[in-house]
Amino acid sequence: MTNPDKFRLEVRDWLEGNCPESMRHPYASEADACWGGRHFKFQSEDQRLWLERLSAQGWTAPTWPQQYGGGGLDRKQVMVLKEELMRIHARPALESFGISMLGPALLKFGSEEMKQQHLPPIVRGEIRWAQGYSEPNAGSDLASLQARAEDQGDHYLVNGSKVWTSYGDKGDWMFCLVRTDPEAKKHEGISFVMFDMDTPAVSTRPIKLISGKSPFTETFMDDLRVDKDQIIGEVNQGWTVAKYLLTHEREMIAATGLSRAGSTPVSKIAVHVLGAENGVLHNSILRTDIARFEMDRECLELTIERARDEVKAGVSLGAVSSLFKYYGTELNKRRYELLMAIHGTDALVWEGGESRDGYLPKTWLRTKGNSIEGGTSEIQLNIVAKRILGLPG
Ligand SMILES: Cc1cc2nc3c(=O)[nH]c(=O)nc-3n(C[C@H](O)[C@H](O)[C@H](O)COP(=O)(O)OP(=O)(O)OC[C@H]3O[C@@H](n4cnc5c(N)ncnc54)[C@H](O)[C@@H]3O)c2cc1C
Repeated sequence: MTNPDKFRLEVRDWLEGNCPESMRHPYASEADACWGGRHFKFQSEDQRLWLERLSAQGWTAPTWPQQYGGGGLDRKQVMVLKEELMRIHARPALESFGISMLGPALLKFGSEEMKQQHLPPIVRGEIRWAQGYSEPNAGSDLASLQARAEDQGDHYLVNGSKVWTSYGDKGDWMFCLVRTDPEAKKHEGISFVMFDMDTPAVSTRPIKLISGKSPFTETFMDDLRVDKDQIIGEVNQGWTVAKYLLTHEREMIAATGLSRAGSTPVSKIAVHVLGAENGVLHNSILRTDIARFEMDRECLELTIERARDEVKAGVSLGAVSSLFKYYGTELNKRRYELLMAIHGTDALVWEGGESRDGYLPKTWLRTKGNSIEGGTSEIQLNIVAKRILGLPG
């Protein structure tokens, strides 16, 4: 293992020479996020360079093995990297469902050919992935899904639809749950497939939200041909892969409550916006709420770190990810309630102004979805009750 202090100096030096100045600021609007993919239009040359340079180091997926394009870093090194990125307020070079969801499932259950085919393009942000789990009658009760894949000898023929596909219209490939054995018990006849969405057999329809925007689509598969070598894990055993991926999705969503690269601590924002005497805010209620929030955030961060160490030591994260998901999403909602209170009426400006082109109110509204996506809070509490506390179902 590399000496952490030496590694910190190396990272600091590298970031100094490679992170463009314009990438050392928090997002000003949702449009600043880089999602990569075949059709992604970079906002600037700096944004393109930042992704190219960070991914060449493997640092867009720092824990993945180097043979698949990852950084091959150990946990301590990842902490150092994260701290150094935060120190210069570097914004994420890539947002990616491939990294946060599919990759871990591929690493655990995928064949060597699949890993070679899919992981390096994910690290480089060349392919954008969409998640095809939910269906009109299969959300919380996901195993009731009806999209069907029929065995045609050398391939599967998939028919059915998905709903609430985040950025379904922008996805290049989809990872998707389908029923391969309609006779089996509902958890046992499901397979986990992947397919290229760039075919007339896959179509999407936007689901408009009250904001007028549409991050979601319905997604339709009509006689879609899926090669048999694009099934992760065993046929009819996709539920195991799906659940494993969900633990990573939940961990990723839980992390929305944590401090991340490119974000400024709430306490600093409060001092900047409201002013303070010797670093102390005058509004004592807000001061207490912020202090409580920062302490709770720190506790969650340390608890997640401890859990990661346990995973490294062979303990399965499993149901604990539900606990983190529940708590992290509630924390993120608290963060944005506080930010709204700090900015007062300025926080309500929808376009332009102090709220950075409506970034604040739009993100505040978006946080409400955190406790629904990846399994609702009620479902997480059910899992915690049954699988962690051992309460009767
Ligand atoms: C921002 C966002 C992004 C999303 N992105 C994707 C995506 O990319 N791909 C994808 O496949 N899906 C996506 N989803 C869908 C998401 O996974 C589902 O919305 C979620 O699983 C809940 O399912 P549902 O909407 O069908 O609600 P339902 O399952 O119908 O639940 C309705 C209500 O009943 C409660 N409830 C249901 N069952 C129980 C129970 N057993 N005990 C107690 N309460 C219960 C729920 O908590 C909820 O309050 C996204 C959702 C959101 C909000």
